[in-house]
Amino acid sequence: MKWVNRIAGSLLGLIGIGIMRNFFGKYQVLVFDKEDLGEENDFSALDLRGTPTHACVCGSNVWYIKAVFDNYEIATYFLDMQCAECGSIATAPTPVDREGMEN
Ligand SMILES: [Zn+2]
Repeated sequence: MKWVNRIAGSLLGLIGIGIMRNFFGKYQVLVFDKEDLGEENDFSALDLRGTPTHACVCGSNVWYIKAVFDNYEIATYFLDMQCAECGSIATAPTPVDREGMEN
């Protein structure tokens, strides 16, 4: 009778592992959904493109930009930039914009 109990025990063990796998599979899906919703709720970025600006409305003056390098220096950069702090999109300032302000 002992061997029967052992087989029954290992069968229950296998079923248990199956249930646990199912549980964690579902749990991971739930966590993933929660993170998705959280990102949407925290999303406060604005589209501020239009007037070239040095600082974001959130107070930060650090930006993510797409740039092209030439001879170890920034040769050119794209005008669309994103605030490193809040993620808002704005228009990067250029020397041409400075001349426009002086005139
Ligand atoms: Zn910002």
